[in-house]
Amino acid sequence: MAGDWYNREIEDYSPYDAASRIQDKLAFGEFGDVNPSIADSSTYTFLTPGTMRQAFEGSAEGCFLYSRHWNPTNKYLADALALLEDTAAAHVAASGIASIACTILQLCAAGEHMVCARTIYGGTWALIKNLLPRMGIEVTFVDIQDLAAVEAAVGFRTRLIYCESISNPLLEVADIRGLASIAKKHACQLVVDNTFSPLLLTPHRLGADVVVHSLTKFINGTSDCVAGCICGPESFIEELANVNSGTGMLLGAVLDSHRAASILKNLHGLHVRMKQHSANAQYLAEGLSERGYKVYYPGLPGHPGHELLQRTMNPAYGFGGMLALDVETASNADKVMTRMQEEKVGYLAVSLGYFKTLFSSPSASTSSEIPPEERKAIGLSDGLIRISVGLDEDIDRSLHRIIACLTRL
Ligand SMILES: *Cc1c(COP(=O)(O)O)cnc(C)c1O
Repeated sequence: MAGDWYNREIEDYSPYDAASRIQDKLAFGEFGDVNPSIADSSTYTFLTPGTMRQAFEGSAEGCFLYSRHWNPTNKYLADALALLEDTAAAHVAASGIASIACTILQLCAAGEHMVCARTIYGGTWALIKNLLPRMGIEVTFVDIQDLAAVEAAVGFRTRLIYCESISNPLLEVADIRGLASIAKKHACQLVVDNTFSPLLLTPHRLGADVVVHSLTKFINGTSDCVAGCICGPESFIEELANVNSGTGMLLGAVLDSHRAASILKNLHGLHVRMKQHSANAQYLAEGLSERGYKVYYPGLPGHPGHELLQRTMNPAYGFGGMLALDVETASNADKVMTRMQEEKVGYLAVSLGYFKTLFSSPSASTSSEIPPEERKAIGLSDGLIRISVGLDEDIDRSLHRIIACLTRL
């Protein structure tokens, strides 16, 4: 029996200060341990059969019944993530893609429809394009920056609009306020993947109904596990865990509690890391664009999403740790990435949010699920290198290493 998640309400916080709210949340282990104890059990005892019955009916507050449903460690992490995204509640799952699949399948049934941004993470794109139609869910892909096109795609069977706050890999910035007003007008839900911009954007404050994350990336930050979360209203989070109809419960993508505990510890340093990721990315983006290289970074005044992001972001965290560099051809990208690894700029690897710089060519990796003609239509060059900028102490040294790799082309 447990349930007293925070011993103290947070009375006072500046409108954007999620990091302080997370820091103010107190959680102890059973002996006053500064880290909460890790739930090391799949099942939980009940004092009476009656309480067990109530737990299955959903009326026994604060009881845990089975770890696939909920466990105390996952609850600690979920509660901290709800504070991060300023939603009433949150759910955690075994991966980012599981969180996305559970969210869509909870909101949308066979015969219903969703509108989806056309520039999204390749795995999400493949799920929505290839698997969901097999389950009778129809989808229309749109240019999410064209609000008129988004609204035109919404019909009476549309249940949700899906986008990434800052998109992968082109770093387009979604107008979450504009999208939220379309969703509201047509009684559908706005679901936003905020994986690229934790802390710097809070989509729920801009009107998003549900916010999903791949915790695998910045939030965990150590590239040692895969995990995801769904942040939203209490009623939706409860629906996900419903023993009869919840996708969180019944599709079984449960997060292991040992991983939940380590992610929670890493989350407490997220605000420090995000500032350094952003400052380093800004430095590289400016240095490369000044020298005439084609760089996509929302912190550059010439980026199409720059002003929109500036109006809606928390300026304390900068414009994020992701940038993209276009070297025109796939063979150029291969050469540059090989040299960047040799010159110790970082690792040739997919994923993002690690303390070392990671780079990959989306057309040949994380966006390869999107066919070549479609990639062309959305402006995704074969020579694009996506860079997740690390926590480098000497970022000027890294800039000069990258320039050396580029000038030998
Ligand atoms: C990685 C990623 C996902 C998928 O998350 P996993 O944890 O790998 O399942 C979803 N969205 C975005 C934007 C991502 O970068």
